[in-house]
Amino acid sequence: MSRQVYINGKFVPAEQATVSVFDHGLLYGDGVFEGLRSYNSKVFRLEQHVRRLYESAEAIRLEIPMSQAAMGEAIDLSVQTNGIEDGYIRAVVTRGAGTLGLDPNRCHDPQVIIIADAIALYPEELYEKGLEIITSSVIRNHPAALNPCIKSLNYLNNILAKIEGLEAGCIEALMLNHKGEVAECTGDNLFLVRDGQLLTPPLDAGILGGITRGAVIELARETGLEVLETTLSQDDVYAADECFLTGTAAEVIPVVKVDDRSIGTGKPGPITLDLKERFHRLARE
Ligand code: PMP
Repeated sequence: MSRQVYINGKFVPAEQATVSVFDHGLLYGDGVFEGLRSYNSKVFRLEQHVRRLYESAEAIRLEIPMSQAAMGEAIDLSVQTNGIEDGYIRAVVTRGAGTLGLDPNRCHDPQVIIIADAIALYPEELYEKGLEIITSSVIRNHPAALNPCIKSLNYLNNILAKIEGLEAGCIEALMLNHKGEVAECTGDNLFLVRDGQLLTPPLDAGILGGITRGAVIELARETGLEVLETTLSQDDVYAADECFLTGTAAEVIPVVKVDDRSIGTGKPGPITLDLKERFHRLARE
């Protein structure tokens, strides 16, 4: 059976799930999205993801034509309808079809799309050996230009950094903010371990408030680790004992090299491995 995609209240076969070429989501990246995971057919932190979707929409003054509860149910139903156990779900709300001009007020029919699919994980080997990443020359969007806490359909900032990473043979790239501070990676948040403390940039560094980031902070505090959301420099990264990334798709993944400099011992560290394991269990419990 072909994949059933939810679009504006109905499930249709994937090949029939289409939007207009006049949709401002396509023409201008005018829309918002979420990426979620299901484990054993249950969506991880569904309410938090739905809340973030609505916050993103509110930030761009896009009114989603359904309640948060109905959105949560539609996401759940997408997983059930497609018989997915461990999967990845993409929820998208576009501004809808309008004219070729920018004016969002000419778009009267926001499109709500939910795609539930299999999850394409990073190779297992990378979780054991750790990632090598570079610092991109592309800085993260200035919060006063397009705030990174809005998960908008305009991901070019991240894509440009991702291209630079890929050209250097790295699947992730670190992005600094306009002040030269560590922000986040193209699709993941960043953590460091230094002297037994867990450090991560604060939200006002201009980052997405990752849901995995939040879960990892909670888990770390439960184990008695001190967690500081604090401004970090590139030198803090190079001097760290351990480094790892968090994200819905990646979960927790160790980083062992940044810009050709080994982090700590050059192998995934004990605190990273412990938190990776704890997150793995939390997501599947
Ligand atoms: N930062 C960016 C830019 C992202 O796109 C993502 C993942 N979508 C994250 C961080 C991680 O967020 P989450 O843990 O909610 O997936």
